[in-house]
Amino acid sequence: MPKEATLYKIIDPDKKIVECTACPRRCKIGENLYGFCGIRWNFGGKLYLVSHGLAIAVAIDPIEKKPLYHFHPGSMVFSMSTTGCSWGCQFCQNWDISQRRIIAGWKLPSDLAINLALAYGTQGITYTYNEPVIFVEYAYDIGILAKKHGLFNTFVTNGYMTDETIDLAVKFVNAVTVDLKGHGDPELAKKLCLAPDVEYVFNAIIELKRRGVFIEITDLVIPRYGDDIGKARKLAKWIVENLGPETPMHFLRFHPDYKLIDIPSTSAKVLEKHIEVAKEEGLVHTYIGNVPGHPYEHTYCPKCGKPVIKRTGFDIIEHNLDEESHCKFCGYKLNIIGGIAPIYKMNRFAYLPLELYTEFTHIPPDKIKNFVLGGYR
Ligand code: SF4
Repeated sequence: MPKEATLYKIIDPDKKIVECTACPRRCKIGENLYGFCGIRWNFGGKLYLVSHGLAIAVAIDPIEKKPLYHFHPGSMVFSMSTTGCSWGCQFCQNWDISQRRIIAGWKLPSDLAINLALAYGTQGITYTYNEPVIFVEYAYDIGILAKKHGLFNTFVTNGYMTDETIDLAVKFVNAVTVDLKGHGDPELAKKLCLAPDVEYVFNAIIELKRRGVFIEITDLVIPRYGDDIGKARKLAKWIVENLGPETPMHFLRFHPDYKLIDIPSTSAKVLEKHIEVAKEEGLVHTYIGNVPGHPYEHTYCPKCGKPVIKRTGFDIIEHNLDEESHCKFCGYKLNIIGGIAPIYKMNRFAYLPLELYTEFTHIPPDKIKNFVLGGYR
């Protein structure tokens, strides 16, 4: 059901204007209007998360798809999203859910999400596909219940979050994949993602780490716009200095999508050059993503250099770690949380026939007020 948001404040009670405090845009929203992300609406001077309980995309995936390579590797997660996004990336692969301003989805109250996650044998919940910060109150309700049932919670996020959101997220989120675009370049973020102030992302990463959330970084290497090797070096240096040399770092191959279809995919050679400079700056766990079969999908022991987790795509083929993530060749303790899940050799993709458990709803804009005040119509 739609729910009053917790992350907002009333800034003009007479004119019924509110300020959303979930992401650094801090949209000031008049009555009957919504913020940039399209799912946070002002009705009667209160801000509502109208997509609370409505999941547009739900799937069971390997955790490596997020990607998280050092957090419960080999596990299976219940992945979900709403519509909308706090950014407007012109190359978004999930643009059909993130960039359309629609209120739609499968009715998925928190208890049903948990029941399905448990019934399908997953080990955690991942809030992904669109930006979880915009539906953080919904994620929180699921996440707290997930914790009670022994499931972990992870975000795949652009990292664009306020201190208020971080305060809420640290109560239930165990790990975060922060998706940078073109080395986190502020100009690229403005031009291609409509993100005015990317420095918030870097502040949030430091704060999440400080408060005990496990971090993996991805960097989408975009030909022509975001493939500058000097900027990649600067980013790697920043990660070493602020998060530590054993922070997993994934350089992702770009492929043309949405409005950026005249740009070629990133070549493996360019990605390998990125790995080279990241290593020179001191990062020891560097990966190439979206190039299945590449040797930089594997995890190598920082001490002896031998492969300790071998992957192809999202699958773990073999591993050489003990139960506490020590290298079996030299005994080095790797920066891996949770150890290799016993199910790692299973097929970890599962089709989830939501139509058996719930129904799909689409609420036209002129009906949203009724929906909020009166429930599903
Ligand atoms: S979460 Fe949405 S409504 Fe809130 S500030 Fe960000 S874009 Fe605006």
